[in-house]
Amino acid sequence: MRSLEPELERRRTEHLYRRRRVLDSAQGPLLQMDGKTLLSFCSNDYLGLANHADVIAALQRGAGQYGAGSGSAHLVSGHSAAHHALEEELAAFTGRPRALLYSTGYMANQGVITALLGRDDTLYQDRLNHASLIDGGLLSRAELKRYPHNDLAALAARMACQSGGDAMVAVDGVFSMDGDLAPLPELARLCEEQQAWLMVDDAHGIGVLGRDGRGSVDHFGLDEQAVPILMGTLGKAFGTFGAFVAGSEALVETLIQQSRSYIYTTALPPAVAEATRASLRLVQAEGWRRERLQQLITRFRAGAAQLGLALMESETAIQPILAGSAEQAVAWSQALDSQGILVTAIRPPTVPEGSARLRVTLSASHTVDQLDRLLEALGRLNRETDA
Ligand SMILES: *Cc1c(COP(=O)(O)O)cnc(C)c1O
Repeated sequence: MRSLEPELERRRTEHLYRRRRVLDSAQGPLLQMDGKTLLSFCSNDYLGLANHADVIAALQRGAGQYGAGSGSAHLVSGHSAAHHALEEELAAFTGRPRALLYSTGYMANQGVITALLGRDDTLYQDRLNHASLIDGGLLSRAELKRYPHNDLAALAARMACQSGGDAMVAVDGVFSMDGDLAPLPELARLCEEQQAWLMVDDAHGIGVLGRDGRGSVDHFGLDEQAVPILMGTLGKAFGTFGAFVAGSEALVETLIQQSRSYIYTTALPPAVAEATRASLRLVQAEGWRRERLQQLITRFRAGAAQLGLALMESETAIQPILAGSAEQAVAWSQALDSQGILVTAIRPPTVPEGSARLRVTLSASHTVDQLDRLLEALGRLNRETDA
């Protein structure tokens, strides 16, 4: 049996060691962490719903009615009226015939890809796709072909030489570590030409982009025809937990029959489904949250540009600041921490070698004053780095 220590030691010396911080408060701009108050710019609670009174009340009512746990898988005795109602509401929200709840986005991606693809098929993935899409692809045993980020010509060239079997293109709608969008209209056209499924993982678009927060597919004016498989997560803009896949009747029925990460796991607590129904109502009714977020994004980009920070091409709530080395990213994160600001460093292998970064994320729950505090702190960092 080999010793595990050398690998851990390598991670420490290469500034790649990952540590967990212990949180003592609800999610929000101000966190209690490790005994101090930090102003946070790294959650995915883009609309500020994770600690919303209506969502919490729905969770409590749901627990009162259904208890704490679902007690079983969906196909046994765990599929409650709360789950069912949420699925119907998510289908209506996304303008698709059906939606199916999964316990996590990670499982949804794995479940869809493994249910639809096998050994003789081909899965095309953007190089910057989320790990859960990559892992789903590996588990499916389909041939995995990755193409350079958002490079349609490279994708088209790879697709042109496919021989037999089914094909799928899977992409993040909004790339999780870069914040830019996939070129969905062009991808949809290519997939139609090539008779391939297009699957969009909209973990960071759903709730935030499109009409009433319908996501990146709606943002581009695309429908189910163009994007037959839409995955959305509920732990980010929706502020709760879980995920869903929306599409045709036949797609959802196929997943119910064949998707192993749907079948062989306990249904998420019904109370969580009730909480998500409440947050879905807020997502649709409170457009001001998206407007506020947009204003903060605009202000952040203008402020950061003035400071000469290396921003990326992102118009979304994800606003990474490129550091390059893992060491630099960690040093910046620690310097911000000492000023009471929490922005975690994102390092390889989560992002490509040499592109470690601070992943700043904004939320509708941030105030302009809080944003300006971040900009001031980043300005101080920048001056120290230049010196
Ligand atoms: C967070 C995320 C997931 C995983 O969703 P969970 O519900 O957290 O498991 C999948 N895809 C992308 C792009 C994500 O950012």
